[in-house]
Amino acid sequence: MSKIFETELEFCEICGSVLPLPGETMFIECKRCQNKINVKEFHGIENHSSHIFKSYDTSTNDKEDELSGPTVERKCSNCGHEEMIFKAQQTRSADEGQTIFYTCKECRHQEIEYS
Ligand SMILES: [Zn+2]
Ligand SMILES: [Zn+2]
Repeated sequence: MSKIFETELEFCEICGSVLPLPGETMFIECKRCQNKINVKEFHGIENHSSHIFKSYDTSTNDKEDELSGPTVERKCSNCGHEEMIFKAQQTRSADEGQTIFYTCKECRHQEIEYS
């Protein structure tokens, strides 16, 4: 969450000095006048658009994690790409075998196969 403030400096609304970057807490304390600002509240008003942008970034990173793993030669039924990432997930009962999730590297189309 601290990345939110990387590109923009924030200023104290009371004394106008530059605020330190937020740490682990939800408050930033002004070094000059000890004014405490709730990061969440402050952020919502001042940085609405960059907040949305950062959220989008986060979800993009999640997707990239999905796209790592062993690949297999399998034609994507959506875009025709011939390489897909597979993830096997064991079901509770050993008799039922496993479920395999395929993800297309090109278009991220997902296919599920039960074995
Ligand atoms: Zn201040
Ligand atoms: Zn595809």
